[in-house]
Amino acid sequence: MNSGDPRAAELSYSLTALEARVGAACRAAGRGRREITLVVVTKTFPADDVARLAAAGVVDVGENKDQEAAAKAAELANLGLRWHFVGQLQRNKARSVARYAHAVHSVDRAPLVTALGRGAQDAQRELGVLVQVDLSDEPAGGPPGRPARGGADQADLPALADQVASTSGLALRGVMAVAPREAGPDGTARAFARLAALSARLRADHPGADWVSAGMSGDLEAAVAAGATHLRVGSAVLGRRPPLQ
Ligand SMILES: *Cc1c(COP(=O)(O)O)cnc(C)c1O
Repeated sequence: MNSGDPRAAELSYSLTALEARVGAACRAAGRGRREITLVVVTKTFPADDVARLAAAGVVDVGENKDQEAAAKAAELANLGLRWHFVGQLQRNKARSVARYAHAVHSVDRAPLVTALGRGAQDAQRELGVLVQVDLSDEPAGGPPGRPARGGADQADLPALADQVASTSGLALRGVMAVAPREAGPDGTARAFARLAALSARLRADHPGADWVSAGMSGDLEAAVAAGATHLRVGSAVLGRRPPLQ
C-alpha cells in the first residue's frame, strides 16, 4: 500500500499517530471518540495532499483562505469532502465561501452573517455557521504589532447567534475559538473552560447549536478535556507550514 507514493504513506502514518492522540485524550476525559469530529486543516498544502487524505478516510477538511479553498473544492468536488472555513473572512468573499463550504467556523460580526445568508440563499444551500469568540483577556484586536486571532466579544455572542438563527440559508451550529497566544497550559485550560460555559449558555437558547470547535495540533488534549466536538488539526498531520500562514 502507498508504495509508489511516499507522501501518502507519510500522511497515513501521521493520521494514525493523531488518531492515537485523540483516542488517548478521549479516554482521559471519559468521552467517546464518536463525540469528536476531526477537521484536518489543509491550508497551504496542495490539492494532491487533500486527495491523499481523502483516500486515507478523511472527510472533513479545513481551509482559511477563500481563493485557495475554492480552487481545491472545485478540483476535488467528486471526493465527497466537507469543507470547513476556519479563517478570518472578508464580507466580499462570503458569496464564494457559501457555494462550497459545509460550515464557516469564523463568523464574528453582523455584516458577515448577512452576506453569508445572501450567498447561501443564492446558492440554494444550507450553510453551517459557528460564532467565533475571542477568549483573550486583552483589549479587542490584541496587543499592538501582533495580528488579532479574530472572534467576537463574548458579550456579543447571544445577539450574533440570534441573527444567524433567524437568517434563512444559515444553520447555527455552535461556537469556535482559538486559544490565546502564549497562554500556557493553565491559561489554555481556562480559555477552553470559558468557551464551554459560553456553549452551555448558547444551547439554552439554541439547543441544536452544540458544536464546540476548539483545539489544534498543540492543544487538542485540553480542548477534548473541555468538551470540544470539533478539532481543527493541521501541522500534526501535514507537517510544518511555511511561516506567516
Ligand atoms: C491553521 C489553523 C488551525 C490548525 O493549526 P495547527 O496548529 O497547524 O494544527 C486551526 N484553526 C485555525 C483557525 C487555523 O487557522
